[in-house]
Amino acid sequence: VTAPRLEIDLEIIADNARTLTRRLAGRGIAVCGVTKATEASPEVARVLLAAGATSLGESRIHNVEHLRRNGFTGEILLVRSPMISEVERVVVSSDTSLNTEPEVIDRLAVAARRHDCVHGIILMVELGDLREGMMPTDLPSMVERVLGLRGLTLRGIGTNLACQNGIIPDASNMAELSMLTTSVEAEFGIDLDIVSGGNSANLSWALDPDTDTGRVNHLRLGESLLLGRESLARTVLPGLRSDAVTLVAEVIESKVKPRRPRGDVGQTAFGAAAPRAVSSGSVRRVIVALGRQDTDPDGLTPPDGFEVLGASSDHLVLASTEPCVAGAELRFGLDYSALMRAMTSRQVGRSFVPSAST
Ligand SMILES: *Cc1c(COP(=O)(O)O)cnc(C)c1O
Repeated sequence: VTAPRLEIDLEIIADNARTLTRRLAGRGIAVCGVTKATEASPEVARVLLAAGATSLGESRIHNVEHLRRNGFTGEILLVRSPMISEVERVVVSSDTSLNTEPEVIDRLAVAARRHDCVHGIILMVELGDLREGMMPTDLPSMVERVLGLRGLTLRGIGTNLACQNGIIPDASNMAELSMLTTSVEAEFGIDLDIVSGGNSANLSWALDPDTDTGRVNHLRLGESLLLGRESLARTVLPGLRSDAVTLVAEVIESKVKPRRPRGDVGQTAFGAAAPRAVSSGSVRRVIVALGRQDTDPDGLTPPDGFEVLGASSDHLVLASTEPCVAGAELRFGLDYSALMRAMTSRQVGRSFVPSAST
């Protein structure tokens, strides 16, 4: 087996996904399983669908195409607004996309007619976080536009919070989304299928027994299914596990060295000066063959007895109270950023913990 590699326990992901889809079903909410942090791993996608996700979500068209090539025929949502340069590929491979721009919507309609298909549109509304989304006052004219274009079908509306400014999904902004749904339906005499309330940051709101979920009937979930955490405070959700994925890397040096560097200090490989060691004396310093090319070192949780001191492109340096030799393997926990970077690095291998019979 190669190092570094990700070890992915599909049973844990399946348990997380089953627990969440069941709880959310009790609140009238369907789950779109977002696989973007795994670069559209077919193994993970299969598990999410078997566990009750009703569709898959991907941010990049290349990944959607990867899922199609691997035999996924069910509904796939493109969760990032399509680029105009890729609308043909979008209508061919994805069923529905999240949209905010009239120009993109027009081009999707043209492409859908050319390919003789009907593309689904979810209109994204800005409710405070200031990433993607049209201002709520622009929603009626966009609805009118979509309804007037052959080749498109309006699947619903949605919003995305907690990504750009950490705005918390709560009773107030979610009620606003429900209200917008009702008023669009009344104004145009239509029923909206999907009211997509957000991502893993919505779970504290959605799972609170006192919450009135209103018209929200859909969440797009990635991090919580894979890592068991909601994404506002990154607490592990009750009954879920955060250890489905571990990053295994190999020790290439282990020596007792002074705590403090020696000589005059300038920049380091990645700019900022390293924090000064507070105490003198010496410590076992362990170097692992893992770096910024492979993952986000700030998002790693080292094994007990180890502390991450820093990382450059190819070296992760740790202090250790444990004896440790070259050739040993260390196992790290990952946050979402470290997971995504490791999953999308060609230098990092993958191994799945079997019993993938789910
Ligand atoms: C990534 C993404 C999601 C999934 O977010 P998680 O925090 O991983 O649950 C949902 N919606 C959009 C628009 C996204 O970009």
